[in-house]
Amino acid sequence: MTPTDFQQAVLGWFDQHGRSNLPWQQDINAYRVWVSEIMLQQTQVSTVIPYYERFMESYPDVQSLATASLDEVLHHWTGLGYYARARNLYKTANWLVTHTSGEFPTSIEGLCKLPGIGRSTAGAISSIAFKIPATILDGNVKRVLARFSATAGWPGNNAVLQKLWLVADSYTPDTRVADYTQAMMDMGATLCTRSAPSCYVCPLNKDCKAFQQGNPKDYPGKKLRKILPIRTQFLLMIHNSQGEVLLQQNPPLGLWGGLWVFPQVDTEIGIAETCSKLGLQIVSQTINPTKRHTFSHFHLDYQISGT
Ligand code: SF4
Repeated sequence: MTPTDFQQAVLGWFDQHGRSNLPWQQDINAYRVWVSEIMLQQTQVSTVIPYYERFMESYPDVQSLATASLDEVLHHWTGLGYYARARNLYKTANWLVTHTSGEFPTSIEGLCKLPGIGRSTAGAISSIAFKIPATILDGNVKRVLARFSATAGWPGNNAVLQKLWLVADSYTPDTRVADYTQAMMDMGATLCTRSAPSCYVCPLNKDCKAFQQGNPKDYPGKKLRKILPIRTQFLLMIHNSQGEVLLQQNPPLGLWGGLWVFPQVDTEIGIAETCSKLGLQIVSQTINPTKRHTFSHFHLDYQISGT
């Protein structure tokens, strides 16, 4: 399939089946595309929509985001996870307001220098907001292209990633770049899905190597599972006699950076020490059974201690 045939197939499918009513597809500008792209990293469209709408209501442009407090911004992010994304949005908004009067750079190089913006996000902003030809390779697009080209291996591996960038570059058009970008994202999200690709109605099936081989779900390759380390923690839910609960703000960097959280201690002994440091007297105390929350790089086994 030539690049022109590929683009025609993708755009033809998009004209009939692509999404056009997503909130970030209205009143398009670099700011709105940027926020949507950052929210959509690691998070599904249906989850992102209400967060995006609330965010835009409070921060309709880069200036309003830059002049908000980080606390408020993190509050808007609560529940979306991966809070570094919100901190980077805030940092970038401040940088733009200080250095460029809030204007986004239009080059991929300039966009990639901003905190939290990688090559694919820069490509999406450039193509969708500025209509400048640029390649994207987000998780959905990696899946489509890994299957189409039968590129083996886990895309987190740099060599595999570079192969996929070459494939993506070779098919990116010079015209209708915004539609093409959206089309590739939509195909990955709605057609070439992780566990149930709809190959029989896919416009690429004639030349899709994985489909021809009969094994689309083998692509992209999986990361070798490694054993995650386990951390243990007690989360102190400290109530006073009025029923108020004590929260402390974490330092800006690290896990749950900048968020208001229950005081955390590593050992049961630490509970009394922490309360004494805070000048609090324990009247009664319960310790709940251990629960596990798994992060990308470790398991957190935690117990909630109510005092
Ligand atoms: S034919 Fe199947 S595996 Fe190939 S791109 Fe289309 S949906 Fe994905």
